[in-house]
Amino acid sequence: MSSTNTPPYETLDPENWDEMRALAHRMIDDAVDYIQNVAERPVWQPVPAEVRQRLQTPAPQLPEGAGHAYAEFKRDILPYPTGNIHPRFWGWYMGNGTFMGAMGDFMAAIMNPNVGGGNHVAPLVEQQVIAWMRDMLGMPAGSSGLLTSGGSMANFIGITVARNTNCGYDVRHLGVRAAPGPLTVYASSQVHSCNKKAVETLGLGSEGLRSIAVTADYTIDIDALQRQITADRAAGMVPFCVIGTAGTINTGAIDDLNALADLCAREKLWFHVDGAIGAVAILANNVKSQLAGLERADSVALDLHKWMHIPFEAGCVLVRSESAHREAFSLTPEYLAREVEAKGLASGAFWFSDYGLQLTRQFRALKVWLSIKEHGLERFGRMIARNVEQAHYLGRLIEQHAQLELTAPIGLDIVCYRFNPGGLSAEKLERLNRDLLAELQEQGIAAPSHTTLNGVYCMRVAIANHRSRNEDFELLVEETVRIGRGLLN
Ligand SMILES: *Cc1c(COP(=O)(O)O)cnc(C)c1O
Repeated sequence: MSSTNTPPYETLDPENWDEMRALAHRMIDDAVDYIQNVAERPVWQPVPAEVRQRLQTPAPQLPEGAGHAYAEFKRDILPYPTGNIHPRFWGWYMGNGTFMGAMGDFMAAIMNPNVGGGNHVAPLVEQQVIAWMRDMLGMPAGSSGLLTSGGSMANFIGITVARNTNCGYDVRHLGVRAAPGPLTVYASSQVHSCNKKAVETLGLGSEGLRSIAVTADYTIDIDALQRQITADRAAGMVPFCVIGTAGTINTGAIDDLNALADLCAREKLWFHVDGAIGAVAILANNVKSQLAGLERADSVALDLHKWMHIPFEAGCVLVRSESAHREAFSLTPEYLAREVEAKGLASGAFWFSDYGLQLTRQFRALKVWLSIKEHGLERFGRMIARNVEQAHYLGRLIEQHAQLELTAPIGLDIVCYRFNPGGLSAEKLERLNRDLLAELQEQGIAAPSHTTLNGVYCMRVAIANHRSRNEDFELLVEETVRIGRGLLN
């Protein structure tokens, strides 16, 4: 019998479940309001100095309580996001998120399974999501895959499998020091920097990634690639992989994937595709044909937290050869031994930890699974197709305006432009556009980012946004010109 004097048994559970339930309901209400009213808030606002200060205080030693912690969250954290959930956020390349995706992350944390492996339902959900992605891209049944933190890790895994599989010796065992010559990867000058990081981390050095010129449309120059490979072989290098890009980060260009697949077949090179931006656009009628050849890749990296709008983080790697994928990463120490177990939680030979770097893995498949079930793939395709149309709509608005100019061909949903009133030096023009971009952001109007193309600084509008409307682009053009003219005075 418990007496009223007995203190409750201490755990990390709520002391009062009814109070926690009420708080959790308030949190859901706040979350719905936050998303529903996002367009009424500025795209972005800086974190005030007093908030920054409060975020540098030491950890409390004693309980402050869930309600107190949440109140501080609402005051100091919730108002200052990146802005990528807003309809006029077009910076770098991000997605908006989906509400059901967020609920998926919540329920995943509530279940809190470890998807490194084991006999439970979460790995089955991840396998299903991977099969959906495989079928979507037209890769063969039996291809393998893994959900990752994002495109960077997906590319890293693809290039690692390529290195371990296609260098002509047991790289995993002997390392790069046993290579008969410098191991070499090829990609266009527009390849995303995470691939460079991957090649460096894999021990090949930045010299291990050959940067190949692009043509006027920013796709890889296939002839230049062929010449470089031939010259490198003659010089004793060991080419093993070509990275094609399906949607470059600068301009959305898609390399000729069939031509790359042909070249790789001819040269016996691993064909990896960085499709972080563009692979999921296979769902869009106005993009699909440009991705022909993607299904021939040996490995593909795609991002679901970009143009599929799954809440961060959600990427995916697909590898045509399941055995090559597993052999690059599987490690089965005794304390994780499971093949012998026929029954129980540790049974089953399939463990996701054999396909990547992580042992403990979150249940990131759930938010993807819920979002895709909620909307169906066709709707995602329509959202992507609409962004491509919006890019061209914005392009027309820019071309119609005497003081604005496009600085690159529009690829997919990426528009690069600048304010150019004429008569300014290159230096002044760059300063002007830098200030203009900062003002667009600081005034909370819109959030493009910037890039430099052939030495020309420009603003870059990447429209991976299911909330943007045509009016948002009209406003961008009006405000660009208003601010630009103001800066001239
Ligand atoms: C964003 C991006 C990456 C990196 O993906 P993360 O999800 O940010 O890790 C790789 N390649 C391209 C083309 C990208 O746009």
